[in-house]
Amino acid sequence: MPELSCPVCGGTMAVPEDALAGELFEHGECGAQLELIVDDSGSMSLKMAEEVAEDWGE
Ligand SMILES: [Zn+2]
Repeated sequence: MPELSCPVCGGTMAVPEDALAGELFEHGECGAQLELIVDDSGSMSLKMAEEVAEDWGE
């Protein structure tokens, strides 16, 4: 299971081997919604899902 780094908190997050590009995950450590990015060579990374930005207003 690949371990990717969270772009929000810098922690590690395990992603299932069969995860698909565009799949959303919630990082339990910081609560961020993360979107899985898979590039042409098949390497995975995470970026913050844009749709959650609105929920942060306080
Ligand atoms: Zn995080």
